[in-house]
Amino acid sequence: MAKQITIAGNPIRKYKIVYGANPEAAVELQKYLARTTGVTLPLVHECQKNEFEIRVGKTNRINPRLVYDGIDNHGFVIKVAGGNLTIRGNDALGDMYGVYEFLDRFVGWRFVHKDTDYLKDGDVDLPEGLRYKFSPPYEYRQLDWVCTQDDTWRRKNGENHLDFHWFGFVHTLSDLSELNNQFTGQPCLSDPAVLETVKKNVRKWLDNNPHAKIISVSQNDNQTYCKCEKCQATDAEEGSPAGTLLRFVNAVADDIKDDYPDVSIETLAYQYTRKAPLITKPRDNVIIRLCSIECCFSHPLSDPDCEVNKAFQHDIIEWGKICNRLYIWDYVTNFPHYIPPFPNFRVLLENMRFFAENHVIGMYPEGNYQSETGEFGELRAYLLGRAMWNSYMTEEEYFAYMDDFLEGYYGKNAAPYIRKFIDFTLKESEGRHFNIWQKPFDIIPREVYEANFDKIEGWWNEAERVGNRARVQKSRLQWTYIKLMLNPDEKTARRFFHTVNALGIRWNEWHTLFRDDEEPDFTKQPIEWPHR
Ligand SMILES: [Zn+2]
Ligand SMILES: [Zn+2]
Repeated sequence: MAKQITIAGNPIRKYKIVYGANPEAAVELQKYLARTTGVTLPLVHECQKNEFEIRVGKTNRINPRLVYDGIDNHGFVIKVAGGNLTIRGNDALGDMYGVYEFLDRFVGWRFVHKDTDYLKDGDVDLPEGLRYKFSPPYEYRQLDWVCTQDDTWRRKNGENHLDFHWFGFVHTLSDLSELNNQFTGQPCLSDPAVLETVKKNVRKWLDNNPHAKIISVSQNDNQTYCKCEKCQATDAEEGSPAGTLLRFVNAVADDIKDDYPDVSIETLAYQYTRKAPLITKPRDNVIIRLCSIECCFSHPLSDPDCEVNKAFQHDIIEWGKICNRLYIWDYVTNFPHYIPPFPNFRVLLENMRFFAENHVIGMYPEGNYQSETGEFGELRAYLLGRAMWNSYMTEEEYFAYMDDFLEGYYGKNAAPYIRKFIDFTLKESEGRHFNIWQKPFDIIPREVYEANFDKIEGWWNEAERVGNRARVQKSRLQWTYIKLMLNPDEKTARRFFHTVNALGIRWNEWHTLFRDDEEPDFTKQPIEWPHR
């Protein structure tokens, strides 16, 4: 049903969309307003004067001397003045984000999934004097879920990593040092020969990738760092192996600084390098990507009563003191158990805010980047996108986005039942700590599932009956998984196994998909299937 929109009391059908430098954002707005109201507004160049205007992007209507002060990270202004509506960023990207924010915040569009835009009910009145100025807190914003792999969806939800031209995303020292020790060790970072090889290869990589703006010089994915006398002495002096690493990375950064002035080097503060060094500070062209891998995701990272997270608080504060380009590698799914429930919805917004408040300017929350999800990956990705974009929204707004997603993605009638299941997992996991490797019954005990079995089964049955059946069934796999944990049953297990396979869902980060003909032992719990 078409919505009514008024601008300063005038019906929107009287308006023309005016563009100047950036027709692309204007065209996108025209398209969505037509889908909203049923009326396609004329799109006119700035050389034409009109009585009622929606001005998108840079046009000659705006005093060119008027600077949009304090707008960063492709933010924008949305305003109604003199009966006209203006959506304007500081550049073309800001214009586009401004259009999407306008559609979300003021018109009621929710870009819940790459295949689904959802329009909430209710007419829209944009009063004279309306003014909304916004800058996202992070300069770099990247989600990593298979379900978000769509460039248009990414723009709609504020992602921008494609503009960063990152080369060598992570764990590059094995290749850069030519030691091929990705899983077996780390190069000796006190060895001048290693430094020379890495410098040489960084230059080579940059020459071969002239668009690269960030190059990763980061430790391999193992904890076997060099314990030679020199490295140990530096580690001790710096109070952390991060000191040895950072001296090395700084030397590479100094080497490229003049020849590649637009390039920054990214390195990890990860596991044994998580603790900030006492002496060495990162160079201006070095980005530190601090990793929250050990943390508890039942409780917010800011929680002083969660011991694991308290240690992380200390580290982020120390890094914040010495680093002006702090990024985060966050972890937002259960990597050895992709399918069963992982109720981290309580912390997604709070953690985003916590990072922003601690001098973080880039976010990479790592999710199930390998396959479709059999739980709430789509919801989680959407909420992460929203929280990364607008980290200072209220809890209320955040949970309203959750409900909007549920309505838009599963269907209005199914949404309340799915929400009941989510609330159940949040409530029943609340008192417990859990990390990203936690077994399902450590998060919510078997007895709790057993005591609520019929109720949960009823919610999923109802949701499936009244909602988008295929989508409900796919997310319901998390519950089937739990049911098979409670009561292994060969027949159900076999059907479940083949359904998961057919949907292209992986069991965990390390085990690839089963082939259909390599059936596991179905008398065992599904948690044991991939670990043969
Ligand atoms: Zn060494
Ligand atoms: Zn905790």
